[in-house]
Amino acid sequence: MSALTTADQSPAVTVDLGPAVALSCRECGERFPLSPSFACTSCFGPLEIAYDLPTGDPEGLRRRIEAGPKSIWRYAPLLPVPADVADKPNLAPGFTQLVKADRLAAELGVTGGLHVKDDSGNPTHSFKDRVVANAVEAARAFGFTTLSCSSTGNLAGAIGAAAARAGLRSCVFIPHDLEQGKVIMAAVYGGDVVAIEGTYDDVNRFCSELIGDPIGEGWGFVNVNLRPYYAEGSKTLAYEICEQLGWRLPDQIVIPIASGSQLTKIDKGFKELIETGLVEDRPYRIFGAQAEGCSPVSRAWREGHDVVRPVRPDTIAKSLAIGNPADGPYVLDIARRTGGAVEDVTDAEIVDAIKLLARTEGIFTETAGGVTLGVTRKLIEAGTLDPTLTTVVVNTGDGLKTLDAVAPTTGPTATIRPNLDAFREAGLA
Ligand SMILES: *Cc1c(COP(=O)(O)O)cnc(C)c1O
Repeated sequence: MSALTTADQSPAVTVDLGPAVALSCRECGERFPLSPSFACTSCFGPLEIAYDLPTGDPEGLRRRIEAGPKSIWRYAPLLPVPADVADKPNLAPGFTQLVKADRLAAELGVTGGLHVKDDSGNPTHSFKDRVVANAVEAARAFGFTTLSCSSTGNLAGAIGAAAARAGLRSCVFIPHDLEQGKVIMAAVYGGDVVAIEGTYDDVNRFCSELIGDPIGEGWGFVNVNLRPYYAEGSKTLAYEICEQLGWRLPDQIVIPIASGSQLTKIDKGFKELIETGLVEDRPYRIFGAQAEGCSPVSRAWREGHDVVRPVRPDTIAKSLAIGNPADGPYVLDIARRTGGAVEDVTDAEIVDAIKLLARTEGIFTETAGGVTLGVTRKLIEAGTLDPTLTTVVVNTGDGLKTLDAVAPTTGPTATIRPNLDAFREAGLA
């Protein structure tokens, strides 16, 4: 961990990030001024944003949100962004569809209402646009001119696009063996993309070195020194889901895990909606999904451990291939506290689930979505998920970026000469 990213060594700048008032340590609770840092100087715990939340007038707040833009910026009063954020050059992601998935529900035997939160509809086709949009505002506030990250693929593309729109430089780092769709998506916006010969965890270590070096000065690493701000973007998934359910918490939600950040922030988002009075306080259960080939958190869950032992990933779900997930222990806490669970599925089950979602709901998800739906199905079959309750499955990405996963088993039903006899012979008439 770089000394430059602990809280007290960064200059305390007076910044306008809306309702965000401080950084606070998730472990010891110590508070620090808002700065580009992610670790507590006292205990090295992770820092998160503390707010002065608008709690006095839930009806007024709800009306203000509903009158806002159809993007994550309608929730600006709950995010670390300036009040005029919607007027700035950015991709305005979010407010993606919450699809009532009745045909999928029938197939899985869910009677309580099954919904797919479809984040493939974001500007760069993954949920990462939400987190990056928040990081861009922090980068602007702290005066960074280069945006950077270590990425499993989708983040690199989201940063490329967001930096282009905001007029910032970008230089992102990815493992060398990513899907072509993700590499091209990262590079097409004109920023620099560096492929590192190693796994995501090697890329991450490299970035930690870079940030402590003079080369990295003036660089905002969205998932390192800007991580507290970046991570808050995932809360908007929780806000949108509740608003789209008619300002109501879902009973159960299934979320994919890479670093575990998204899952922990969806939980934080639900808690803030309760705290501000926007939803009624009732129990909800959070379930985490991993691929068997990178399942450090679900293994810890199964074995009843608090510690998440790192693994070397080997799975087609590359966007989730983080062998040493920073938020793993917090994911375990949340699953335990809410009565949820963490489970994993094989690569074959991932492909099956991708096709199931496509066939029943017309949604083509990437491998990460296959993980989430595959785990959902497994948990229903095991009786862990209650089929009589309102259930949300989070689809975080788009299948066009991971064509290789389905290409070997998906293609034309028949290839024929252009005449009716040939079509008859194919047995499809
Ligand atoms: C990054 C990513 C996730 C999960 O990310 P966390 O690190 O757990 O927040 C899930 N799905 C897709 C498609 C992603 O790109």
